[in-house]
Amino acid sequence: MSSDPLFKRVTLIGFGLIGGSIARAARAQGLAGEIVTTARSAKTRARVQELGIVDQVLETNAEAVKGADLVILCIPVGACGPVAEEIAPFLEKGAIVSDVGSVKGAIARDMGPHIPAGVHFVPAHPVAGTEHSGPDSGFPELFINRWCILTPPEGTDAAAVEKLRAFWAGLGARVEIMTPDHHDLVLAITSHLPHLIAYTIVGTADELAQVTSSEVIKFSAGGFRDFTRIAASDPTMWRDVFLANKEAVLEMLGTFNEDLSKLTRAIRRNDGEALFEHFTRTRAIRRGIVEIGQDSAAPDFGRPHANLTKKTE
Ligand code: NAP
Repeated sequence: MSSDPLFKRVTLIGFGLIGGSIARAARAQGLAGEIVTTARSAKTRARVQELGIVDQVLETNAEAVKGADLVILCIPVGACGPVAEEIAPFLEKGAIVSDVGSVKGAIARDMGPHIPAGVHFVPAHPVAGTEHSGPDSGFPELFINRWCILTPPEGTDAAAVEKLRAFWAGLGARVEIMTPDHHDLVLAITSHLPHLIAYTIVGTADELAQVTSSEVIKFSAGGFRDFTRIAASDPTMWRDVFLANKEAVLEMLGTFNEDLSKLTRAIRRNDGEALFEHFTRTRAIRRGIVEIGQDSAAPDFGRPHANLTKKTE
């Protein structure tokens, strides 16, 4: 005997890495009676139709949300406010409206005022991703063992929050609840600043006069390569993240600049002790991340290494 799915109709507005992964995982786990999708461009909608993962691909956001008991906006942060305004008149009473945006204060500010009475607004951020985007980039395992942070406004119906928590747990995620401001501060240091640094380093290397681009690429395994993966992330998404989380990013950037100055001084003054102490501390952080299962302990992130074979004449 099969039990009823958690939601009878889940609508995903936007079908890129995150929307596509939610669709694939929700399908695999039987969390939705029906999955309905729409995307901005006809090209993406046609591709989603071809992929055959969802039950219906509709042309407009308004059509797509009708009859849905869960609507998730899987689009760039900057687009969430206008889309919330557009869908508001068509939302079912009792439905849950959520999103997956990487910034939460801006989502509360831009979407919140448009959510009609009787509809539950429970923003979410799955802290999981890759540098790929588009309808083909998603995969059902993306959220397994990753955190999903819910930031419901004060006074949100507890049953609605619980239901969304169960949905994300069903996709394989671990769920935590926090305020939007706290989320934005935590993510500024764990995600937004690292992306900014990667974008900077890769840009700097590209502009160097003394080292050719071909040398940068050739010798990238020295560390640069790992930054290039992050710096290949979607430009629209990241433009929106920095504009939407300006305050927290600037605050963390201030602290970062001070710390960078300390290390610069240590190098200039030949202060090996300071450098050694700092690098020992950071190594322990990496070990902690591996210990709690948020990354693999395999050397070089598990990249395969060729076998050394003896050359034959
Ligand atoms: P993506 O692969 O680029 O997909 C974005 C989707 O949004 C596409 O379906 C696109 O439609 C649609 N879209 C783009 N601009 C739009 C607009 N102005 N109005 C309406 N729809 C629009 O992006 P993603 O990586 O899935 O990211 C989606 C959201 O997830 C973002 O808010 C991001 O902050 C968040 N997030 C991303 C990651 C990550 O690592 N990528 C991780 C966690 C959370 P078309 O294809 O038709 O253009």
